[in-house]
Amino acid sequence: MDFDVIVAGGGPTGLLLANELGLAGVRVVVLERQPVRTGQSKALNLQPRTAEVLDLRGWLDPIMDRAVTTLPAGHFSGTPLDYRALDTRFPYQVGIPQARVEEFLESHLAEFGVPVLRGHELTGFRQDADGVTVTVAGPAGVRDLRAAYLVGADGGRSVVRKHLGVGFPGRGGRVSMVVADVVLRNGDTDGEWRLPTFEPHEGGSIFLLPLGDGVHRILFGGPGQQGVDRDAPVTEDEVRAALRRAEDGEPELREIRWASRFTDASRQVERYRSGRVLLAGDAAHIHLPAGGQGLNLGMQDAFNLGWKLAAEVRGAAPAGLLDSYHDERHPVGAAVLRNTRAQGLLMIPDPDVLAMRALLADLLTGPEANRRIAGMISGLDIRYPMPDAPVHPLLGSRLPAIDLPTGRGLFLVPRPEFGDAARPWRDRVDHAVVDGAHAEGADAVLVRPDGHVCWVGPEVDDGLRAALTRWFGQARQVTP
Ligand SMILES: Cc1cc2nc3c(=O)[nH]c(=O)nc-3n(C[C@H](O)[C@H](O)[C@H](O)COP(=O)(O)OP(=O)(O)OC[C@H]3O[C@@H](n4cnc5c(N)ncnc54)[C@H](O)[C@@H]3O)c2cc1C
Repeated sequence: MDFDVIVAGGGPTGLLLANELGLAGVRVVVLERQPVRTGQSKALNLQPRTAEVLDLRGWLDPIMDRAVTTLPAGHFSGTPLDYRALDTRFPYQVGIPQARVEEFLESHLAEFGVPVLRGHELTGFRQDADGVTVTVAGPAGVRDLRAAYLVGADGGRSVVRKHLGVGFPGRGGRVSMVVADVVLRNGDTDGEWRLPTFEPHEGGSIFLLPLGDGVHRILFGGPGQQGVDRDAPVTEDEVRAALRRAEDGEPELREIRWASRFTDASRQVERYRSGRVLLAGDAAHIHLPAGGQGLNLGMQDAFNLGWKLAAEVRGAAPAGLLDSYHDERHPVGAAVLRNTRAQGLLMIPDPDVLAMRALLADLLTGPEANRRIAGMISGLDIRYPMPDAPVHPLLGSRLPAIDLPTGRGLFLVPRPEFGDAARPWRDRVDHAVVDGAHAEGADAVLVRPDGHVCWVGPEVDDGLRAALTRWFGQARQVTP
């Protein structure tokens, strides 16, 4: 084997996954077909749960150094959501261009000695019982690389997904839109990031968001964008026509920094795992970028997959651990597809839809409705099923306000004696005595490397040992 894992795609999903694998000591390589970073950013935010997962490993602070702002709010199809009520260390969206997140994640890989091969495109692969042979076209020509596993994190038009031939059900795009970063002469130049304002209009809708230094992000769609090929260049004329519809009164266009087209296509791959090949991020799901979720969903896929794949590579994974990646993440992706479809519907410029938007905006001023939808868009309400564990409000949820810098499991106990129960797993699970703040009074809590609770209980019992075995593998002999 040349590597344990080959990751195809150096976007946010592939780079976070490579960091997780590098942290676990896995021999991993990232193949990225772009010879250099473009510096372009589709996404501009980290949701609270993404901030939490980065913080678990100690990687959030250096990312915050590159952030522009924080916003104590999210939105659902343009209707504001108050994040201040959320139970998290980070009750806000971090305003940061995607390119800066990628830049940090790529530079951080050097700490683990993980290579990123730029200008290297995966063109095909074949898998057998022992591994995957990947064909790579690079500056020095075409060559084969072999690894135990391949992860396709190669975006919405994933070559890995197409080569697998796995089903990608859903529907194609009905509406085409344009995203562009433009410099405006008479635009709002204070650079204060805010939630996009949005009102559906018959002649076409436009979101306008100041990014600072006179640069604005615009998203627009109208009759002029429909039926146009997705790869057709965006013209200056259509940008000017869209700007004429902007609320703030026809700002003057000085420069288009970059522009591209996207649609509301909504699809999700049937299986996230096919033998030794896994899919993550946009390679596994595409949807309308509404509410600022896609990058966050992909990074959280990577966080769910990393520790499981590392255990598998080390030969320490219990049966079914790697399959739990699909079982846990497919429903989460499906829920995001559902909410983005609903948000897309609310953008239709129709008086009846406007009536629905007004009703919804009113509902969302109520604290319970706000908490429900904010919990969903922020990623904080994700709860994985934990079969066979005793029912408890924390079970399957993420435990807020903990640190897991080593990427290992954590057994939080209210009294020192509890810790002995996990000794046979101490090469994989750390233990800490806490004063009840995390341990729900007298209960002990077992936390997976991704911060999700997989067992809670008042005493050591067979259920605890079963949970340790289920998530961390067989106990090791402990010498007294
Ligand atoms: C207009 C727009 C606005 C958006 N805004 C937001 C937002 O505000 N918030 C949010 O959370 N999300 C947003 N998104 C979604 C977000 O940008 C994506 O979900 C995110 O980029 C997915 O990351 P990824 O790493 O899975 O895929 P990508 O970012 O697509 O990365 C895939 C990488 O793989 C490389 N690659 C492709 N094929 C190969 C190959 N064969 N071999 C090697 N390398 C390959 C590509 O060059 C690329 O670098 C937006 C999307 C759009 C279109």
